[in-house]
Amino acid sequence: MKPFAYVRATSLREAAEAYAGHQDSRYLGGGTNLVDLMKLGVETPGSLIDISRLPLDRIEELPGGALRVGATVPNSDLAAHPLVRSRYPVLSQALLAGASGQLRNIATTGGNLLQRTRCPYFQDLSKPCNKREPGSGCGARDGVHRDHAVLGQSEHCIATHPSDMAVALAALDAEIELYGGEQGTRTVPATAFHRLPGDHPERDTVIRPGEIVTSVLLPPAAPGEVSVYRKARDRASYAFALASVAVVLELDRTHRVRRVALAFGGLAHRPWRATTAEERLTGVEPTPEAVRQAVGAELDQARPLRDNAYKIPLARNLACDALGTLVQSADATPRRPRTP
Ligand code: SF4
Repeated sequence: MKPFAYVRATSLREAAEAYAGHQDSRYLGGGTNLVDLMKLGVETPGSLIDISRLPLDRIEELPGGALRVGATVPNSDLAAHPLVRSRYPVLSQALLAGASGQLRNIATTGGNLLQRTRCPYFQDLSKPCNKREPGSGCGARDGVHRDHAVLGQSEHCIATHPSDMAVALAALDAEIELYGGEQGTRTVPATAFHRLPGDHPERDTVIRPGEIVTSVLLPPAAPGEVSVYRKARDRASYAFALASVAVVLELDRTHRVRRVALAFGGLAHRPWRATTAEERLTGVEPTPEAVRQAVGAELDQARPLRDNAYKIPLARNLACDALGTLVQSADATPRRPRTP
């Protein structure tokens, strides 16, 4: 491993200033992905700025019912939090579907969002990869790409984003809070935080150099809202999604869809919010046929490669099953009056 400097930050300002002095720095949280990539030589920072001891480890309920999750809250703590389990089951389920128990105990909320693709060419220095080394080519396009993207890919990169948690956050319309030192603070919708690869697959997110993820904001859950996360993978535990889906559903008194949010994982370079399917379902009775047609319209946009067309029926079946389950549970859930 290449030698690097280590700085333990005692405040956000100190962390940002340390980064500004060394542009080849990386922030260190749980390190479960970054340190692996350093061992492989994929990441070669000149310094690590440890932000794991900053006071960003709280989950707090805000007036009005929103929840602020600090960036260093471990994945296991977030999954087990009573308010997350009761109001946002899709998030708890997504977290528990990711990694192993040991990894979830150390991996952080911010780090989960910023983890890199598990494309094997990205992790192998002997192979071309535009994400690791822009302009070197994409080994996966004509190589082994069974796990790769079918939606939103570019000629430069066909990788998928590995996070389960990020898929749930996209469906929940969460927001990401960022601190950028002299650049100030800003908030980015979870649906806009991760990028499609386009001409710059080396950039996974819209985060600017030196910015720190400080927290994730979860909006208040609506009365009668139900949600679920479903994931298909090669083995029962500790495997990344071949396809996954996060669904949040709210029905009105006539059993029509008041609001639906549907996001796919494992299909694209970012969590894929299925806006076409959502538009088709809003205001209609979610019969199995209506659901199948709406999900099918979304997946008509897919452009599979030689070996990953199986993902399209897999994702369709996951989404239809998840929506069917939620329709049943929404029917059985008493609807509290909406607060003004
Ligand atoms: Fe690299 Fe993306 Fe191609 Fe994988 S799919 S080899 S990450 S450019």
